[in-house]
Amino acid sequence: MRLDSKVAIITGAGAGIGRASALRFAAEGAVVIAADIDAQGAQATAALRPADAPGRIIARQVDVAAAQSIEELVEAVMTEFGRLDVFFSNAGIQRDGSVIDLPEEDWDHMFAVNVKGAFLCGKFGIPAMIASGGGSFVITASANSFYAESDIAGYSATKGAVMQLTRAMAVDHGPAGVRVNCICPGWTETAMSKPYLDENPKGREFAAMIAPSGRIGQPEDIANVALFLASDESGFVNGAAWTVDGGWTAGMTKAIALI
Ligand code: NAD
Repeated sequence: MRLDSKVAIITGAGAGIGRASALRFAAEGAVVIAADIDAQGAQATAALRPADAPGRIIARQVDVAAAQSIEELVEAVMTEFGRLDVFFSNAGIQRDGSVIDLPEEDWDHMFAVNVKGAFLCGKFGIPAMIASGGGSFVITASANSFYAESDIAGYSATKGAVMQLTRAMAVDHGPAGVRVNCICPGWTETAMSKPYLDENPKGREFAAMIAPSGRIGQPEDIANVALFLASDESGFVNGAAWTVDGGWTAGMTKAIALI
């Protein structure tokens, strides 16, 4: 088992990529704390764990934008399990608009969850990981960390910020044995992408066409990469941004050709 005896926190584990990752990690032997602001979603993730999965999933309600919430989460994990090996800072939100259209409160909310959330997970999680002898910290960034799309200016800014935060954290904490990497998904079929994919007449078709792999990503595609980054197999991978987008950002010419 690739995560045997490891203790992992996953934020945003009440749905989508976080849920798929919780199930994948538990299948590889981890004790997973499925943390989400949506308590019912987190509990539903725990309930989805197959009875024969070697690991466990424990649901916990948290708000990644609130320092006290993350501090208490880490304290509770250290008290109960005595160690923290993996922190997957995955929770995120998206609000649309150019800088002209985007309400100020949406900008602030996105930065609070997407950027401050990752900062707080590091602030409280990394000391616990160092005390555990080292570990792997993974952040969900986005293909939009690299490339701009219209009408998501604030979201893109948060995802650029967490990619750079990844590098800064890797530089600071690599010497203490904590590796920090981010995953940059392209279009992935979750509640976050559903409005675009379902409400635009050709949204689904377009999202599949712009990826050279010819399909939309599934949460499990991202979970598989998160598993690798969480495991000791990626022991020399540090400070890296992992694009998982079916080749979308490598194939911008295809997108342009479609316009
Ligand atoms: P999702 O909406 O299915 O899941 C996000 C989860 O985060 C939800 O369960 C939600 O309750 C939780 N959450 C929101 N605010 C929170 C908070 N303050 N504290 C704790 N939990 C909170 O979306 P998803 O697609 O699974 O998103 C996961 C990550 O992937 C996000 O960071 C997102 O930006 C990123 N991402 C998604 C896509 C995509 O196409 N779906 C592409 C690139 C990046």
